[in-house]
Amino acid sequence: MRKELAVTILQTLEAHGFEAYFVGGCVRDWLLGRPVHDIDICTNAHPGDVIRLFPDHVPTGLKHGTVSVKMNGHFFEVTTYRTEGKYEDYRRPSDVQFVDELNLDLQRRDFTMNAMAMDLKNELQDPFNGREDLAQQLVRAVGIPEERFQEDALRLLRAVRFAAQLGFAIETKTLAAMKATAPYLSHIAVERVREELNKMLDSASPQQGCELLTKTKLFTHAPLLERLFERASKQAWRLVHLNQVTQKWSLLLYAAELGEEASRKVCQQVRMSKRETEEISTFVRLLHSIKPQWDSPSELIWGPILLDVGWETSCELARILKAIWWKDQRETFMEKVQEAFEKMPVKTVKELAVTGLDLQVALQKKPGEWIWRVLNHLLTQTALHGLPNTQEALIEAAKKEVARNEY
Ligand code: ATP
Ligand code: MG
Repeated sequence: MRKELAVTILQTLEAHGFEAYFVGGCVRDWLLGRPVHDIDICTNAHPGDVIRLFPDHVPTGLKHGTVSVKMNGHFFEVTTYRTEGKYEDYRRPSDVQFVDELNLDLQRRDFTMNAMAMDLKNELQDPFNGREDLAQQLVRAVGIPEERFQEDALRLLRAVRFAAQLGFAIETKTLAAMKATAPYLSHIAVERVREELNKMLDSASPQQGCELLTKTKLFTHAPLLERLFERASKQAWRLVHLNQVTQKWSLLLYAAELGEEASRKVCQQVRMSKRETEEISTFVRLLHSIKPQWDSPSELIWGPILLDVGWETSCELARILKAIWWKDQRETFMEKVQEAFEKMPVKTVKELAVTGLDLQVALQKKPGEWIWRVLNHLLTQTALHGLPNTQEALIEAAKKEVARNEY
């Protein structure tokens, strides 16, 4: 359906005397028979022409020659053939030049499999033999690999990510160049690094990705990350059994034997959001408190965990445990969480038959932190240890707890 829409863009451009091709990732994925998530188009029409021909557009990157054309609610990036100007600081260039030839545009692209274009007749333009590399399952840089990684060091991570997504090897010279240019990765914005790492962790072969990161020494400038990928790579195959990126990072950090503090540092180093950082460090803390082994599920008592982090986090933790104990697929963690949840007569402090104020009055004490502690103690006792949820029983138990702790 979406390809049909993109076809009309190519037809319109051709009807007005311009060249137009599908290009990059979509051509690669069509040839591989993989799902295509965005279709990019390149053309010798200049952005001014594209805007004129397609009134429904967003000028997303005019400076770089890109116009997002809208068709039936879908966007397609239409980019003028271009070469890239001088590269500064190992990042993308500050300026670009429009050119007339498709081959010059393909030449600026990172890998041979991403440097192919296809026209309306399905004719392939493939000056760097990308198709052959697809057949041989190789990630190969276009041109001189050292130069290409030096121009834009993000390509180092893209190479690893594509290898992990497609299960490809990295061609020998390209791999050697990656080792040689690895230090340049430290110049890349952390957010872009994180996005590539997330795609790698979300791929079909994350263990291959971790091994490549280690082999190429891409993270010598960030020892904590280096340690993470090195130590976790053996267990990284388990990530494919998880679907959320925070769960994946948590399993990885646990596999690398990093604790809650170190995990928090990793999250901050790759600038994850506060919410993600909290989520991940909670999972890592819980995993360390349970200490699941990689090959043997032990009987888990879910009650205290449910009271500690609630229903939703417990369910997510159950999913991580299932990935850790993947060998034993009969394990029904979710059922056990549910069972424990249903068994608890009360689930939160709010459901207790006494409030903090009731305790203050009954115990004739000033408000303070003790209230919160005692209420939590009462919750544990009623939820898990059979204390009746009645005012009388709770106040009696509260008095004992206060005396015991000398609050
Ligand atoms: P994905 O499946 O992740 O979208 P993709 O290959 O389409 O993979 P994009 O980031 O969408 O990747 O980029 C589209 C195309 O632009 C690539 O196929 C490649 O030709 C080119 N490209 C993207 N990033 C770079 C880069 N850093 N250096 C050189 N060429 C690049
Ligand atoms: Mg793409």
